[in-house]
Amino acid sequence: MQDVELVERFSILGDWKGATPKVTRVLIGVVFDIVEGFFGKKLDRPVLITNYPSADHPVACYAIKDGCYQVNLSVSSGLNWCQIVYQLAHELCHLNSNYAESVGHKYKWLEESLCEMCSVAVLVVLGKRWDKTGMYKYGRKYGASVRKYVESLPSMKGYMPENTSAYAIWFDSNVSALEGNSEIRELNGVVASYLYKNVFSVCPAAWCCVGALNKWDCHQDLTFTSYKESWREQCGDSVEVNEILNFL
Ligand SMILES: [Zn+2]
Repeated sequence: MQDVELVERFSILGDWKGATPKVTRVLIGVVFDIVEGFFGKKLDRPVLITNYPSADHPVACYAIKDGCYQVNLSVSSGLNWCQIVYQLAHELCHLNSNYAESVGHKYKWLEESLCEMCSVAVLVVLGKRWDKTGMYKYGRKYGASVRKYVESLPSMKGYMPENTSAYAIWFDSNVSALEGNSEIRELNGVVASYLYKNVFSVCPAAWCCVGALNKWDCHQDLTFTSYKESWREQCGDSVEVNEILNFL
Protein backbone atom coordinates (compact mmCIF):
# COMPACT_ATOMS: atom_id res chain seq x y z
CA MET A 1 0.00 0.00 0.00
CA GLN A 2 1.25 3.45 -0.80
CA ASP A 3 1.96 5.96 1.92
CA VAL A 4 -0.91 8.38 2.13
CA GLU A 5 -0.21 11.80 3.55
CA LEU A 6 -3.19 12.20 5.84
CA VAL A 7 -2.28 15.61 7.17
CA GLU A 8 -1.06 18.50 5.01
CA ARG A 9 2.46 19.56 5.95
CA PHE A 10 1.62 23.26 5.79
CA SER A 11 -1.02 25.92 5.11
CA ILE A 12 -0.32 29.29 3.56
CA LEU A 13 -1.94 32.47 4.84
CA GLY A 14 -1.35 36.20 4.53
CA ASP A 15 -0.41 38.37 1.57
CA TRP A 16 1.76 36.77 -1.14
CA LYS A 17 1.75 39.78 -3.44
CA GLY A 18 1.42 38.85 -7.10
CA ALA A 19 1.69 35.09 -6.62
CA THR A 20 -0.63 32.30 -7.72
CA PRO A 21 -1.36 30.31 -4.52
CA LYS A 22 -0.96 27.01 -6.38
CA VAL A 23 2.59 27.88 -7.45
CA THR A 24 3.52 29.15 -3.98
CA ARG A 25 2.33 25.82 -2.58
CA VAL A 26 4.48 23.87 -5.03
CA LEU A 27 7.54 26.00 -4.17
CA ILE A 28 7.01 25.60 -0.43
CA GLY A 29 6.51 21.85 -0.90
CA VAL A 30 9.88 21.67 -2.67
CA VAL A 31 11.56 23.45 0.26
CA PHE A 32 9.91 21.02 2.71
CA ASP A 33 11.15 18.06 0.63
CA ILE A 34 14.75 19.31 0.68
CA VAL A 35 14.73 20.13 4.41
CA GLU A 36 13.15 16.74 5.22
CA GLY A 37 15.93 15.15 3.20
CA PHE A 38 18.55 16.94 5.33
CA PHE A 39 17.04 16.00 8.68
CA GLY A 40 15.82 12.57 7.58
CA LYS A 41 12.38 13.18 9.04
CA LYS A 42 9.16 15.12 8.78
CA LEU A 43 8.11 17.66 11.38
CA ASP A 44 5.79 16.34 14.09
CA ARG A 45 3.05 18.88 13.31
CA PRO A 46 1.93 21.03 10.35
CA VAL A 47 3.18 24.59 9.83
CA LEU A 48 1.00 27.66 9.33
CA ILE A 49 3.06 29.89 7.03
CA THR A 50 1.89 33.51 6.92
CA ASN A 51 3.52 36.20 4.80
CA TYR A 52 3.59 39.79 6.05
CA PRO A 53 5.25 41.77 3.21
CA SER A 54 5.97 44.80 5.40
CA ALA A 55 7.27 42.96 8.49
CA ASP A 56 10.89 43.65 9.48
CA HIS A 57 12.02 40.05 9.42
CA PRO A 58 10.74 36.47 9.33
CA VAL A 59 10.17 34.55 12.57
CA ALA A 60 9.31 31.08 13.87
CA CYS A 61 6.84 31.76 16.71
CA TYR A 62 7.27 29.80 19.94
CA ALA A 63 3.51 29.45 20.39
CA ILE A 64 1.65 26.54 18.80
CA LYS A 65 -1.67 27.51 17.17
CA ASP A 66 -4.45 24.99 16.48
CA GLY A 67 -1.87 22.21 16.78
CA CYS A 68 0.43 23.85 14.23
CA TYR A 69 3.80 25.56 14.27
CA GLN A 70 3.60 29.17 13.13
CA VAL A 71 6.15 30.66 10.77
CA ASN A 72 5.82 34.28 9.64
CA LEU A 73 7.74 35.35 6.56
CA SER A 74 8.41 38.90 5.35
CA VAL A 75 8.75 38.43 1.60
CA SER A 76 8.21 41.62 -0.38
CA SER A 77 6.80 39.85 -3.45
CA GLY A 78 5.26 36.41 -3.84
CA LEU A 79 7.16 36.18 -7.13
CA ASN A 80 10.54 36.46 -5.42
CA TRP A 81 10.96 32.72 -5.14
CA CYS A 82 14.59 32.85 -3.96
CA GLN A 83 13.64 35.10 -1.06
CA ILE A 84 10.79 32.75 -0.08
CA VAL A 85 13.15 29.77 -0.12
CA TYR A 86 15.84 31.67 1.80
CA GLN A 87 13.48 32.77 4.58
CA LEU A 88 11.50 29.54 4.82
CA ALA A 89 14.56 27.25 4.91
CA HIS A 90 15.97 29.27 7.83
CA GLU A 91 12.74 29.04 9.83
CA LEU A 92 12.22 25.33 9.07
CA CYS A 93 15.72 24.73 10.46
CA HIS A 94 14.61 26.33 13.77
CA LEU A 95 11.60 24.00 13.83
CA ASN A 96 13.79 20.98 13.14
CA SER A 97 16.32 21.95 15.80
CA ASN A 98 13.81 21.96 18.67
CA TYR A 99 13.99 25.75 18.95
CA ALA A 100 11.25 25.99 21.58
CA GLU A 101 12.62 23.30 23.90
CA SER A 102 15.47 25.38 25.34
CA VAL A 103 15.02 29.12 24.84
CA GLY A 104 16.94 32.24 25.77
CA HIS A 105 20.30 30.56 26.36
CA LYS A 106 23.50 32.28 25.30
CA TYR A 107 24.45 29.68 22.68
CA LYS A 108 21.43 30.38 20.46
CA TRP A 109 23.88 32.09 18.11
CA LEU A 110 24.98 28.64 16.96
CA GLU A 111 21.40 27.63 16.12
CA GLU A 112 20.96 30.97 14.30
CA SER A 113 24.14 30.38 12.32
CA LEU A 114 23.09 26.84 11.41
CA CYS A 115 19.70 28.17 10.26
CA GLU A 116 21.49 30.68 8.04
CA MET A 117 23.50 27.77 6.72
CA CYS A 118 20.30 25.83 6.06
CA SER A 119 19.14 28.63 3.74
CA VAL A 120 22.39 28.41 1.80
CA ALA A 121 22.32 24.61 1.67
CA VAL A 122 18.69 24.44 0.49
CA LEU A 123 19.35 27.05 -2.21
CA VAL A 124 22.43 25.16 -3.41
CA VAL A 125 20.42 21.93 -3.71
CA LEU A 126 17.55 23.76 -5.39
CA GLY A 127 19.93 25.42 -7.86
CA LYS A 128 21.25 22.00 -8.84
CA ARG A 129 17.90 20.19 -8.92
CA TRP A 130 15.58 22.92 -10.19
CA ASP A 131 14.85 21.22 -13.51
CA LYS A 132 13.72 18.08 -11.71
CA THR A 133 11.35 19.81 -9.27
CA GLY A 134 7.68 20.60 -9.70
CA MET A 135 8.68 24.27 -10.10
CA TYR A 136 10.46 23.76 -13.42
CA LYS A 137 7.31 24.17 -15.47
CA TYR A 138 6.67 27.57 -13.90
CA GLY A 139 10.16 28.93 -14.66
CA ARG A 140 12.33 26.91 -17.02
CA LYS A 141 15.38 29.12 -16.63
CA TYR A 142 15.00 29.95 -12.98
CA GLY A 143 17.60 27.38 -11.82
CA ALA A 144 20.32 29.76 -13.03
CA SER A 145 18.75 32.60 -11.02
CA VAL A 146 18.85 30.42 -7.90
CA ARG A 147 22.55 29.69 -8.45
CA LYS A 148 23.27 33.38 -8.92
CA TYR A 149 21.25 34.31 -5.84
CA VAL A 150 23.30 31.93 -3.65
CA GLU A 151 26.53 33.56 -4.77
CA SER A 152 25.13 37.00 -3.96
CA LEU A 153 24.17 36.14 -0.36
CA PRO A 154 26.04 38.22 2.24
CA SER A 155 27.04 35.04 4.12
CA MET A 156 28.70 33.69 0.96
CA LYS A 157 30.50 36.95 0.22
CA GLY A 158 31.64 37.82 3.74
CA TYR A 159 34.74 36.84 5.72
CA MET A 160 35.71 33.16 5.40
CA PRO A 161 38.28 31.90 7.94
CA GLU A 162 40.76 29.92 5.89
CA ASN A 163 41.48 27.31 8.56
CA THR A 164 40.63 26.36 12.14
CA SER A 165 43.29 28.67 13.62
CA ALA A 166 41.93 31.65 11.69
CA TYR A 167 38.44 30.73 12.90
CA ALA A 168 39.65 30.47 16.51
CA ILE A 169 41.11 33.98 16.32
CA TRP A 170 37.92 35.35 14.75
CA PHE A 171 35.80 33.52 17.34
CA ASP A 172 37.75 34.89 20.32
CA SER A 173 37.15 38.45 19.21
CA ASN A 174 33.45 37.88 18.45
CA VAL A 175 32.24 35.42 21.07
CA SER A 176 30.96 38.07 23.51
CA ALA A 177 28.98 39.77 20.74
CA LEU A 178 27.49 36.41 19.69
CA GLU A 179 26.58 35.44 23.23
CA GLY A 180 25.05 38.88 23.81
CA ASN A 181 22.90 38.80 20.67
CA SER A 182 22.25 35.57 18.80
CA GLU A 183 21.10 37.37 15.66
CA ILE A 184 23.97 39.45 14.32
CA ARG A 185 23.61 38.35 10.72
CA GLU A 186 27.13 39.29 9.68
CA LEU A 187 28.61 37.09 12.43
CA ASN A 188 26.07 34.27 11.91
CA GLY A 189 27.04 34.36 8.23
CA VAL A 190 30.74 33.78 8.97
CA VAL A 191 29.94 30.68 11.08
CA ALA A 192 27.40 29.52 8.49
CA SER A 193 29.64 29.73 5.44
CA TYR A 194 32.65 28.30 7.34
CA LEU A 195 30.73 25.25 8.58
CA TYR A 196 29.01 24.78 5.22
CA LYS A 197 32.28 24.78 3.31
CA ASN A 198 34.19 22.55 5.71
CA VAL A 199 31.55 20.14 6.98
CA PHE A 200 27.98 20.21 5.70
CA SER A 201 28.65 20.50 1.97
CA VAL A 202 30.79 17.37 2.13
CA CYS A 203 28.99 15.51 4.95
CA PRO A 204 25.21 16.02 4.70
CA ALA A 205 24.73 13.38 7.43
CA ALA A 206 25.84 16.12 9.84
CA TRP A 207 22.31 17.58 9.64
CA CYS A 208 21.08 14.94 12.09
CA CYS A 209 23.26 16.64 14.75
CA VAL A 210 21.43 19.92 14.14
CA GLY A 211 18.24 17.97 14.82
CA ALA A 212 19.61 17.16 18.30
CA LEU A 213 20.11 20.80 19.39
CA ASN A 214 18.18 22.15 22.39
CA LYS A 215 17.20 18.69 23.59
CA TRP A 216 18.89 19.34 26.92
CA ASP A 217 18.76 22.30 29.31
CA CYS A 218 21.33 24.52 27.62
CA HIS A 219 21.20 27.02 30.53
CA GLN A 220 23.15 24.49 32.59
CA ASP A 221 26.14 24.85 30.29
CA LEU A 222 28.17 27.66 31.79
CA THR A 223 30.76 27.73 29.02
CA PHE A 224 30.69 27.08 25.28
CA THR A 225 33.04 24.14 25.88
CA SER A 226 30.48 22.60 28.21
CA TYR A 227 27.69 23.29 25.65
CA LYS A 228 29.71 21.52 22.97
CA GLU A 229 30.22 18.53 25.28
CA SER A 230 26.46 18.35 25.94
CA TRP A 231 25.81 18.41 22.18
CA ARG A 232 28.42 15.69 21.62
CA GLU A 233 26.75 13.54 24.27
CA GLN A 234 23.25 14.21 22.86
CA CYS A 235 24.50 12.92 19.49
CA GLY A 236 26.00 9.80 21.07
CA ASP A 237 29.56 10.97 20.31
CA SER A 238 28.85 10.30 16.61
CA VAL A 239 31.37 10.69 13.81
CA GLU A 240 29.29 13.58 12.46
CA VAL A 241 29.13 15.62 15.65
CA ASN A 242 32.86 15.17 16.12
CA GLU A 243 33.41 16.36 12.58
CA ILE A 244 31.45 19.55 13.32
CA LEU A 245 33.11 20.12 16.69
CA ASN A 246 36.56 19.77 15.12
CA PHE A 247 35.79 23.03 13.35
CA LEU A 248 34.32 24.88 16.33
ZN1 LIG B 1 16.53 32.59 13.06
